[in-house]
Amino acid sequence: MVPQERPIPAPQPTPETQPFWDAALAGTLVLKKCAACARVHHYPRALCPFCFSETTEWLPASGRGTIYSYSVMRRVPVPYAIAYVTLDEGVTMMTNIVDCDLDTVRIGQRVRVVFKPTEGGPPVPMFTPT
Ligand SMILES: [Zn+2]
Repeated sequence: MVPQERPIPAPQPTPETQPFWDAALAGTLVLKKCAACARVHHYPRALCPFCFSETTEWLPASGRGTIYSYSVMRRVPVPYAIAYVTLDEGVTMMTNIVDCDLDTVRIGQRVRVVFKPTEGGPPVPMFTPT
């Protein structure tokens, strides 16, 4: 079952997340890294969620990761897979698995980022099996 494209609502960037969406528009996935404790986090925040340092910087991500868990939404006009993907940088993102047969999605599968257009906003990062 290969799903069709479904309409994706536009994200609402905030001052904290605007650079994330600017990078997405340029086709790059970025994460926040804390200069004080060196840990990477997502979703982007002004303060490090681990040590509350204000000294965080943007880090280009590999865009590669592994499916941690997923659920296929079938009782909708266009079925889709919602998932948690653990990136190689160690952070977990809630996302969708796209451009594949949803019946073949598996926990532990390797995936890479793809950017999907939204309705009038910046594209959103989603993932497809490699
Ligand atoms: Zn920190």
